[in-house]
Parts: sequence; C-alpha cells; structure tokens
Amino acid sequence: MEKVSDYFGCLVFDDRVMKATLSAEVYASLKKTIDEGAKLDIGVANAVATAMKDWAISKGATHYTHWFQPLTGITAEKHDSFISPSPDGGVIMEFSGKELIKGEPDASSFPSGGLRATFEARGYTAWDPTSYAFIKGKTLCIPTAFCSYGGEALDKKTPLLRSMQALNKQALRILRLFGNDTAKCVRSSVGPEQEYFLVTKEMYDLRPDLRFTGRTLFGAKPPKGQEMDDHYFGVIKPRVAAYMEELNNELWKLGILAKTEHNEVAPAQHELAPIYTTTNIATDHNQLTMEIMQKVASKHGLVCLLHEKPFAGVNGSGKHNNWSIATDTGVNLLSPGETPYENAQFLLFLCAVIKAVDDYQDLLRISVATAGNDHRLGANEAPPAVVSMFLGDELNAVLEAIENDTPYAGTEKTQMKLGVNVLPKFNRDTTDRNRTSPFAFTGNKFEFRMLGSSNSIACANIMLNSAVAESLKIYADRLEGAEDFETALHEMIKKTIKDHKHIIFNGNGYDDSWIKEATEKRGLLNYRTTPDCMIHLLDKKNMDMLTAHKVFSEAELKSRYEIMLENYCKTVIIEANTMVSMAKTQIAPAVSSFAAHTAKTVAAKKAVDPAIPCAYETDLIKKLSALTDTIAVKTEELEGCILEIGKLNDVGEEGDMIRDKLLTKMAELRIACDEAEVITAKDFWPYPSYGDLLFGVK
Ligand code: ADP
Ligand code: MG
Repeated sequence: MEKVSDYFGCLVFDDRVMKATLSAEVYASLKKTIDEGAKLDIGVANAVATAMKDWAISKGATHYTHWFQPLTGITAEKHDSFISPSPDGGVIMEFSGKELIKGEPDASSFPSGGLRATFEARGYTAWDPTSYAFIKGKTLCIPTAFCSYGGEALDKKTPLLRSMQALNKQALRILRLFGNDTAKCVRSSVGPEQEYFLVTKEMYDLRPDLRFTGRTLFGAKPPKGQEMDDHYFGVIKPRVAAYMEELNNELWKLGILAKTEHNEVAPAQHELAPIYTTTNIATDHNQLTMEIMQKVASKHGLVCLLHEKPFAGVNGSGKHNNWSIATDTGVNLLSPGETPYENAQFLLFLCAVIKAVDDYQDLLRISVATAGNDHRLGANEAPPAVVSMFLGDELNAVLEAIENDTPYAGTEKTQMKLGVNVLPKFNRDTTDRNRTSPFAFTGNKFEFRMLGSSNSIACANIMLNSAVAESLKIYADRLEGAEDFETALHEMIKKTIKDHKHIIFNGNGYDDSWIKEATEKRGLLNYRTTPDCMIHLLDKKNMDMLTAHKVFSEAELKSRYEIMLENYCKTVIIEANTMVSMAKTQIAPAVSSFAAHTAKTVAAKKAVDPAIPCAYETDLIKKLSALTDTIAVKTEELEGCILEIGKLNDVGEEGDMIRDKLLTKMAELRIACDEAEVITAKDFWPYPSYGDLLFGVK
C-alpha cells in the first residue's frame, strides 16, 4: 500500500509542481499573482501553460477545460483536447498562455436572469490562479471565473473573490490602526462539514422521485427511524467503510484535506469534514467533493443523496460553514490573543461579525434559501429560519461587562477597559455545545449552520465576507479620524454591543418559544420560505452595501434574484409533476389492483360458502377504494394548480403561489398515498419503502 503522504495531491498542479517545473523567474512572478493579485504577463502565462500541459500529459491527460461554477449550482466544463495538427499529418500537443487565461464557452445556455437580454450573449471564463489546476479523469481542469462580455458575473466564484477582496481591504485598514504593518493580506477561511445519505442503487432506480428530484415525495414512516439514537457516531458498516476509504483516496489525490468521517443522526446518513482552507479554494474543493462523493458511490453500487431532505420525518442534511479570518502571516483574527492589545483587536473583529450578522440577517438567510433547504430550516432538526448568534457564557459575560462598565469576574473584579485588561482564555469545549444556533462562536471561528447539504458554500461566504467588510469599514472610518484611538475603540465596541445584542441568543433555538421571543420581542426577521426572503435581496440597504463593496452590480443582483427564485419554482414544479406521474401511473393503479385482488379473494371464499363473512377483506376494499378516490381527486387538484402556475408570467407571483397553494396540494396528495402504502400488500406497492431505503445498505 502506498503511503497517503506519497500520493496526496498527485493530481494537482500545486506549489510543489510549480517549483519543480517553472523557472525561478516565472515561479516568482506567478507567486506574486497568486499572493498579491499582481497582473500576469503573457510571457509568464505561456510558460505556465506549457509546464501545466507537460505535467498533465505525463499524468495521462489528453484534454483541458475551464472549470467554472455557473448559477445552476453545479460545476460546468467544456473539454478541448491539446492536439494540434502538424504538417507531417500527425499531431503535437499544444496549450498556450492565452488558452490558460481565457476561454469562451457559449454562455447562452446558462442562467443569466435577464443579464443576457441587457448585455451580450457571449461570456468568457478567466483563470483563477489562486485555486490550483487539477486533473479529473483525462482532463486538466483549470478553475475559472465566468463573466459576460460586459463583465457581469454569471457565476459564484466572481462575487466570492470580490467579497474576499472587500474583506481584505477593510480588515487591513483595521490592522494598520492596531499598528500591524506586516500583514500583506487578510483572507477568510472555511471548513465545510458535509452531510449526505447513501442508499443502494437498485432501490434508487425503482424510485422516480429520487431519480428526478433527489428526494422521496412519498413514503410512509418506517417502523424504525432515528428514535433510538443508535446511528450517530455508530460503527460504520463494511460497505460504507469501503466507500469512505475510496472517497478519501480520491479526495486526497486532488489535494482535498478530507479529515473527519462519521455516521450522522439519521440511519444511512454520514458526514465528511475537510481541514479548513482559504474560502475560494474551500468552495472549489467542496464542489469537487460533492461530485466525487456521487461518482465513488456509483462504483460501489450506491447512490449518494445530497438533497437537504431526502426523507420526510427523518433528519435532513446540512452543511456547517466554519468560518474565520486570518492574516497571511497566520494570525487568526477571531482568536483571543495573549496581550490586552490583541484582545481589544479580537473584540473589535468579534463585534464586526455581531454587527454584520444582525444588520444582514436577511442576506444570510437568502444565501441559504433553496426549495430543498426550506424543508429543514425551522423543522426542529436544523436551526430555525430566524438568524441569531451564540457566543457562549464566558464571552457573553465579557460583553456584558463592557456594555455596562461593570466588573468582569475574569479580570479580578476590575472594570473591563479595552487595551488594558487581559481577557481570559475562552474554553473551546464549552463554547461548542450549542448545536441549535444558526451562527455559533466556537472558540476561534464561527460556525454558520444554516446551509443546505447541496448548497454551494460560495453564496453564504459572499454575504458573510461582504457584511463583515461593511462593519469593518464603518469602524475604520470612525477610528481613522478619532482623536483618541482607545477611547473611540471602547465606545464603538460598547455601542455595537448595545445596538446589536438582540441577535445574541444562547438558549435552545429549536424551541417554539424562541421564535415567539425572537420575532415579537426582539424584532428579528423570520423568513420561513425562499419566496419570503428572496425579494429582500433587492432591498435598498442590501443593494447599497453589496454595490458599495463592488461585490455585485445592481444588474447582477436583479439577475440573481430572478435566477434563484426561478430555480426554486422549477424545482418545486418538477417535484409536483413527478408526484402526479407517480400517483397516476403507479400508485393509484397499485392500490386499485390490490383492491381487485382482495375482491377476488372474497369471491373465491364466497364460492366455497356464501356465508363466510369476509369482514377483513370487505373493510379493506372499502378503505382502499376510498383512498384511490382521494388520490384521484388530489392528483387532479395538484395538476390544476400546476396549470394555474404555468399561466403566471412573473417569477415572484409563481413563487408565492407555490408557497401558498402548490405545497399544500402536494402534501395532501402525499398523505393519501402514504395512508394507502400502509394498508397495501408489499408485493403490490411499486416502490421500496422508507425502511428498505434507510436500512438497505449493509
Ligand atoms: P466541530 O466540533 O464543529 O466538529 P472541528 O474542530 O472538528 O469542530 O472543526 C469542524 C470544521 O471546522 C473542520 O472543517 C475544521 O477544519 C474547521 N475549522 C477549524 N478551525 C477553523 C478555523 N480557524 N477557521 C475555519 N475553519 C476551521
Ligand atoms: Mg461542527
């Protein structure tokens, strides 16, 4: 067996390969571009392209692609081979700097939400040198941003990189105020914990709902679900262990730091967490991880479900976005320091996050809004749709002491004066226990827990980076002009705590009384569904902030609003159509056949002796017939509703009708079908049951 350290990153054109294959000058110039965003000249690009191509060919690659993340939520690639004809009838393998830097895929079939009408139809991809190129199959993949010819972002990477720039700019201003002249760059880092389900391929193939929508649209509750709590951290079954082993190997070859794996709360549910890294790389890696999870599963006769809610009544899957900000010199700005001065700086960054989360609750909610995630948020298993923050008792006590100018126990009964008192070391273990908070401080990072399992983490981090950049900007504007830095700092932190403490909640976020308190007493936002929140992307305060930091243009925001809502509508309409088809062509006929079969039994019994009562069968036939009728009626109503929605031509109206009417019709049809499942003989039921699916992987 090869050692992991020998093959880790073997499919990545990483720093080790660059050093080994590029001349010292080219390497230095490329490094400058990677680290400081310096412009790359074409000579350097040509040299890098040649080195990349030779390396890729030596690893068996024949093609290259600009790998990008359009607004469909998945990644896209168009492959070109390296071949170029030579005069002697053969080919040579070529790849130029121009081809490395820029590609021109046809943008017209990717969602653009109106941008295409307003601007150019064509788009281009631009190399992101900060994320390493890698090999997938026989293709060299070059991470790229995807824009229209007018420069409007058509992807998730572009605004993410812009939000990182905004954060960098404002955070550096703050660091300079604290006398830090050495940090060249501040970046956010993310470690996303990824949840998923595994089911067998045979059963998956029998369920049109899973195949078309990624989740089950019907299914009665199994006799056993997750109530025994015996799955979480339980022993991993051999077939799953084999899957995880191959998955880790594939991820490691791609330089992805897969670290932790375990069973999750629900049966058949598992989790994978990598070691954290720079946000744009973490985002690329998470996209790749999701893709490889599915690919490896199919090799094991399994299907990896990344949907947020594959099974009703069983915990869904999320993604925890562990986020922190650090300097290029390795200082985590969310880590309490050793000296009073460092502590003051830590508190300022902490306050910046508190203010950001409170001021932009809506943007954070929007960043995780999808049809799939609507099933989780607020369903007593994931955080509620209300955004709040958990800081832990110790930090809370510190903030309270600052706000009220009262003594803090940890400082030997003296008043908290910033820049003077040393804060206690916060205990990481005690801060990490609140699992119900949407946004929890866990010692030296924040864990944003509202993301759905299939979400790209780009969206959440775009909003998070931008909102924190905005807080820091406000702070820097004030502090740069302050006569007495320390007094101004102290006052500003105090004010932040006073103004924003209503967002801090340390209790149980799953509790109904919290939602009441949050919305009625504290005035926090509660956007329960995607159509509820999406329109607020275009609120003036949000547009102003995002455009001021150059993360989005106004046109881009409008297009994103449309695309996201359109995506929601399309997703639910596909689900509704799938339900109609399943109910009509499989479920109703199955229930009806079973009734006919039972009627035949009655006839057979009566033929023996007309006096046999057949009470069981007669009662069953009545129930089955009543349910088939209900199923027929409910199917028709659902179809009618789909037609009605089809007549609307405003995506906002569509979303509202889906939320207010279609979802109810879907739920009603499901109830009737699930009732029928419970009394229909297993041989007649067309689909594997929840029990089969959830406990089918041995
Ligand atoms: P948990 O108790 O939540 O499981 P872990 O320490 O296991 O906490 O971390 C979970 C995730 O958080 C991992 O992906 C880890 O790499 C990441 N993480 C740890 N420290 C940081 C940090 N400073 N910034 C960002 N992510 C981090
Ligand atoms: Mg965690």
